[in-house]
Amino acid sequence: MKDLQFDTKAIREGYRTTQEQEHSEAIFLTSSFVYDSAEQAANRFSKEEPGNIYARFTNPTVDAFENKLAALEGANACVATSSGMAAIFASIMALVESGDHIVASRNMFGTSIVLLNTIVSKFNIDISYVDLGDLSQWKNAIQDNTKLFLLETPSNPLGEVGDIAALSKISQANDILLAVDNAILSPALQNPIKLGADIVIHSATKYIDGQGRCLAGAVLGSETIIEQVSAFTRATGPSLSAFNAWIVLKGLDTLSLRMKAHCDNALKLATWLQNKDQVEKVYYLGLESHPDHALANTQQSGFGGIVSFEVKGGREAAFKVINATEILSITANLGDTKTTITHPASTTHGRLTDDEKQQAHITEGLIRISVGLENVDDVINDISKGL
Ligand SMILES: *Cc1c(COP(=O)(O)O)cnc(C)c1O
Repeated sequence: MKDLQFDTKAIREGYRTTQEQEHSEAIFLTSSFVYDSAEQAANRFSKEEPGNIYARFTNPTVDAFENKLAALEGANACVATSSGMAAIFASIMALVESGDHIVASRNMFGTSIVLLNTIVSKFNIDISYVDLGDLSQWKNAIQDNTKLFLLETPSNPLGEVGDIAALSKISQANDILLAVDNAILSPALQNPIKLGADIVIHSATKYIDGQGRCLAGAVLGSETIIEQVSAFTRATGPSLSAFNAWIVLKGLDTLSLRMKAHCDNALKLATWLQNKDQVEKVYYLGLESHPDHALANTQQSGFGGIVSFEVKGGREAAFKVINATEILSITANLGDTKTTITHPASTTHGRLTDDEKQQAHITEGLIRISVGLENVDDVINDISKGL
């Protein structure tokens, strides 16, 4: 389905009915599959005949999700995983070997940093951290054994942007794979592979499900890369369940409509916050005042749903705003229909030292909002209560 638009692909790709001719995709809640004969079983196992064997390898509902997501990202292949972290870990384990070196953005999802520092480092893999937006740091960090560039753009909570096309030029010239975690924007707003990335990683738990119902993840790339990653998931087991695959598959149908609404609501909230006396600073990529606004415009088709702002009065003032809300959810999750509010310095970034927080601009007065799909006037009113 090559010539179709994103919205059409999001609804039509990956759809395959069974003999029952169901209109909504079926959920195949089965661990294994049966064969017509011993010969067929032998042919399936030897891969002479394509088909399902066992749900740790493939499942038709999971296939439908993988095919649809690959079409939306412009990738040749996709393997789904049980969570976003499983997708990141599987990518690293499949593509990086003992003795190799990874250059990673220091501005990634907290658990990604924990994964690198406490698990990946045990396999004699060296990691260097660099500032996401500083191309010269990426270049200077390259060693003879550098195998992977790993980053997330835009960063959360402040929306710093990494220039994917420029980074891919550097990585390609040095025989390095470029992996981009695209969870914050989703394929509706950014397609890293089209910009030159080799690998896209998703936490489908966030906007792809978009309704806070389940964990899911995915890795996308060339056939060769995905064959390596899926060899890892087949052997180690973080496969996506059919039920969760069905949930995120349904999420993709409405993804672009939801992302448009998240972006519209976020811009309205950010614009309102900018004019408040009690607000020191607003971070939203859609505002022209954001230093990465222009760069974001070159590689994103929208600015996403994350708005952060700093209130005057430090932690006490920030907690007051959070505690005064009545409809927002106080939780660190993001990418939900429900607007969430969190204090990064004491939650998502609580493990950082004071110096690291200062470097990363995670101040005590900083509040992060993942703007949901409620009427944004109600969200604004709720935030205004404690301001
Ligand atoms: C949530 C998140 C992850 C981890 O995904 P899980 O599905 O929770 O395992 C990874 N990267 C980013 C950017 C995230 O927001």
